[in-house]
Amino acid sequence: MNKITSLVAAPCQHDHAQCVSDALAAAEQVCERAGVRLTTLRRRVLELVWQSHRPMGAYDLLDILAREDDRRPAPPTVYRALDFLQEQGLVHRIASLNAFIGCASPEHVHQGHFLICRNCRVAFELDQSLIQPAISKVAEQLGFTVESETVEIAGLCTRCREAA
Ligand SMILES: [Zn+2]
Ligand SMILES: [Zn+2]
Ligand SMILES: [Zn+2]
Repeated sequence: MNKITSLVAAPCQHDHAQCVSDALAAAEQVCERAGVRLTTLRRRVLELVWQSHRPMGAYDLLDILAREDDRRPAPPTVYRALDFLQEQGLVHRIASLNAFIGCASPEHVHQGHFLICRNCRVAFELDQSLIQPAISKVAEQLGFTVESETVEIAGLCTRCREAA
């Protein structure tokens, strides 16, 4: 069972601390290779986005950061940190929720394709190779230039389906 399959089957029963530490380690590498700085704030924002497998909105992040620090960080600072993380492929923006989710494989540039639970908002990133080739093929046949390929599939996760 690959990581996604096991996550979809049991989102609560995995070692999430491992997800977070893997993500932070990958982020250090990606930034080093790109010659950009993962500042304290950028790193903290990434860590907060990785708090769970649920996309997090900019305002949720601002609230948490404000609670941690007496001085509430200026929203533009946090937006810039999110832009940076997005540019480096460390987070994906979930358009339908206007929120952000950490990417577990930022080493190669890709657009995120997601299954998103409409009840608990947990989001699972699909392997690029599942959907991307189909999009490319159709676009090529139609002479269409793809600029962005947002794929956000809504439904119910195993846990919510069982609870329903
Ligand atoms: Zn996890
Ligand atoms: Zn990704
Ligand atoms: Zn769910």
